[in-house]
Amino acid sequence: MTTMESLIGLVNRIQRACTSLGDYGGGDNTFSSLWEALPSVAVVGGQSSGKSSVLESIVGRDFLPRGSGIVTRRPLVLQLHKTDDGSQEYAEFLHLPKRRFTDFAMVRKEIQDETDRITGRTKQISPVPIHLSIYSPNVVNLTLIDLPGLTKVAVEGQPESIVEDIEGMVRTYVEKPNCIILAISPANQDIATSDAIKLAREVDPSGDRTFGVLTKLDLMDKGTNALDVLEGRSYRLQHPWVGIVNRSQADINKNVDMIVARRKEREYFATSPDYGHLSSKMGSEYLAKLLSKHLETVIRARIPSITSLINKSIDELESEMDHLGRPVAVDAGVSGVILKRPGGDRIYGVFDNQLPAALRKLPFDRHLSLQSVKKVVSEADGYQPHLIAPEQGYRRLIEGALNYFRGPAEASVDAVHFVLKELVRKSIGETQELKRFPTLQAEIAAAANEALERFREDGKKTVVRLVDMESSYLTVDFFRRLPQEVEKAGNPAAATASTTDRYSEGHFRRIGSNVSSYVGMVSETLRNTIPKAVVHCQVREAKQSLLNYFYTQIGKKEGKQLSQLLDEDPALMERRLQCAKRLELYKAARDEIDSVSWAR
Ligand code: GDP
Ligand code: MG
Repeated sequence: MTTMESLIGLVNRIQRACTSLGDYGGGDNTFSSLWEALPSVAVVGGQSSGKSSVLESIVGRDFLPRGSGIVTRRPLVLQLHKTDDGSQEYAEFLHLPKRRFTDFAMVRKEIQDETDRITGRTKQISPVPIHLSIYSPNVVNLTLIDLPGLTKVAVEGQPESIVEDIEGMVRTYVEKPNCIILAISPANQDIATSDAIKLAREVDPSGDRTFGVLTKLDLMDKGTNALDVLEGRSYRLQHPWVGIVNRSQADINKNVDMIVARRKEREYFATSPDYGHLSSKMGSEYLAKLLSKHLETVIRARIPSITSLINKSIDELESEMDHLGRPVAVDAGVSGVILKRPGGDRIYGVFDNQLPAALRKLPFDRHLSLQSVKKVVSEADGYQPHLIAPEQGYRRLIEGALNYFRGPAEASVDAVHFVLKELVRKSIGETQELKRFPTLQAEIAAAANEALERFREDGKKTVVRLVDMESSYLTVDFFRRLPQEVEKAGNPAAATASTTDRYSEGHFRRIGSNVSSYVGMVSETLRNTIPKAVVHCQVREAKQSLLNYFYTQIGKKEGKQLSQLLDEDPALMERRLQCAKRLELYKAARDEIDSVSWAR
């Protein structure tokens, strides 16, 4: 069944996609605007008429920037999503995906900061909207657009043109036939002077898409009331007027809670001698429900024409794209071939044959010959008798031996590097699309080689570190477990006997064989870990990020340089890019619409 949630949610998602692509109410566009086809509710009114108060009251939260002057300087697209009772209330900005705001004071700050980010603190205005979603059990599904307040004069520091700029921007929103106008007027001013009504009357003379909202009923002079307006006699609209009592400035200063304010508002109408008979159709909660329901009806009615607009646009764009030529698919060639046979086989050849053979050929026999052991141990530990194992001698022998592993380790990295390089060279050369663009082809090859060089460096650092780690692992335990010396150490009587033994050949032979078995163990370990390091640093990286690297390199280039690469006209490329983005938007929108099941 189609729920209100799914319909308004649908429009919310399409609106967000539109903004990401620069399609929003105030934007200038060479494409037909999808945004304009979507129904939305825009809040308009003079400065201090109570716009922010109404919005906050609908949401039930304080979150809008306050202050004198023009506080709202960019449109705020406020999307309200009703969540299950008891769930945590939070807010999210389109420009800060993944960050959940639960502190609404921070939401206010972010709106201010994000406004300044575009308008640069100059008090200028900008038509680029800020998108804010609020998820709460206390709201109804509704999307509202807060617009800068209409003013009559520019104040200190503002350009003279600000009055017309604001009116122009508000007008671009409200003149769209799909815009529902929430026209805010304060009750303590003559309705005939209302900026909101003046503008609404111009763009919606029949009053069918205008909702009149009368704020500040509590501030009217004693003995007067707003029944002429609320009952439609002063200014007739198709929809009934809604009266509102927001928090006064004094309430705000006293931090009166929004929920308390809603209750007070209900009480105000329920007990009012003037409006008692209208009380079920007054107040901000009623207004929220009324708007939500209306928005849903309008969306439902608009869906068929939105769908047909989308389909028509897709057809047009597809045929334009056929005319312009499709964007080149560079991806397929480069990434596809890597690690497919025979490249993969050659890499495994390095690990299965070359590396083990190189390890076997290391000159440990020479390094651990009796003569060499004698020399190293004597130099390291001196000729004095020791009660414990000649630790320094062992260390030198082992470190000396481990040094030999660096050679085969680095050679494996190089061997794999050349296999990868050859693969990339071939795949770039054989990619059909690339043959059309020799300059691009050369750039890709250069970027790929640069990336492979980096992977190679990384690979080398990693394998050398693996080797170094093996020599750092000479623990106290290792020396303790060595035979003979340990036995004799605690026995003074045997010490003299061992002195002669210490210089015997058998003693050095034992040292040689202990070191040799340690080195054998290390060799076994490295035979397994070097391939892992190489795959991690080079092969996997090449598979996963060669293209990323390429894209960032290419991405740094300006459109003009890019088109030189493609040997094509920049204007043509730009148009193709725009068409492709648009097409993506329309297709995403079509999928969104298809995903909602229609119960009629
Ligand atoms: P905006 O400039 O249109 O956004 O107006 P605000 O919502 O900021 O309201 C301007 C001032 O009017 C604030 O001090 C509000 O507290 C006050 N205000 C707004 N609505 C009402 C209302 O219904 N009753 C009272 N007493 N004060 C209100
Ligand atoms: Mg305001």
